[in-house]
Amino acid sequence: GVDGLYYTKANLLKPIEHKSGMKLMSFAYANTQGGPAIMRGPMVSQVIQQLLVGCDWGHLDYLIIDLPPGTGDIQLTITQTIAMDAAVIITTPQKISFIDVVKGIDMFNKLEVPVVGIIENMSYFLCDSCDKKHRIFGEGAMQKLVDQYGIRNAFEIPIVPAIATQGDNGLPLVAADPDGEVAQVYKDLAGDIVREVSRIAMDNTKPSVTFADGMIKVEQDGTAKSINPAELRRKCGCAHCVDEFSGEKRLQDADVPEDIKPTDISTMGNYAVQIAWSDSHSSIYPYRNLADF
Ligand SMILES: [Zn+2]
Ligand SMILES: [Zn+2]
Repeated sequence: GVDGLYYTKANLLKPIEHKSGMKLMSFAYANTQGGPAIMRGPMVSQVIQQLLVGCDWGHLDYLIIDLPPGTGDIQLTITQTIAMDAAVIITTPQKISFIDVVKGIDMFNKLEVPVVGIIENMSYFLCDSCDKKHRIFGEGAMQKLVDQYGIRNAFEIPIVPAIATQGDNGLPLVAADPDGEVAQVYKDLAGDIVREVSRIAMDNTKPSVTFADGMIKVEQDGTAKSINPAELRRKCGCAHCVDEFSGEKRLQDADVPEDIKPTDISTMGNYAVQIAWSDSHSSIYPYRNLADF
């Protein structure tokens, strides 16, 4: 739905502007050689520079970067080149995707980019002959990710052919059918993510989690609480300790020695803490779970 690519007087690439007012630029537009878009390490930084600095973006409210799938060299280079405020993870319900999403969260965590939302594409088929949500690819792992990492915003995008056909027509479904069910998901998603990004920008106080006098201390806003380490270790929600799919507890209370203690405590993204234990196990606890403890 967009065309025309030219340079401004300052020799900057002019981003293509959709009639909705959204500016966009893609490596595919800039790649005038027409060859396949295969990029290797050093080239990536150059292309990113060209798309970011070499484009006449003007004033932007938000810049959204669509990263290629995966957590390889290219993704790492892009993420390190740009000071990102936040990341949104896109996934699908297939079980194999869960592993990729965890890798993605780990990558952003190492780079201290908060993951503010998860979007599951092709979540369910919106049937026109019944009201049921047909989960063609099975029940996804999104809820598990939300529980494990404490990510607040999770969205399901249904399988609706019009999402693709409208995109190809140049009029996105949100614009073509602004009151429709799909548009509502996109609106909720955009609103929640914008709110979360500004919340992080304004107030980035995480609780402090420390180990002292045999207890784990959680302090925030002048209030403190102490948690028994063995009790917390027994509440580990990882796939080793709790069956991923049945939710049944695998770890027995007796498996955890009473004198267990943390060997390392570090933040895991914006919403959780990672604790390495003296039994060589490592657990992730969302702050909100610690607050309820
Ligand atoms: Zn049906
Ligand atoms: Zn565990």
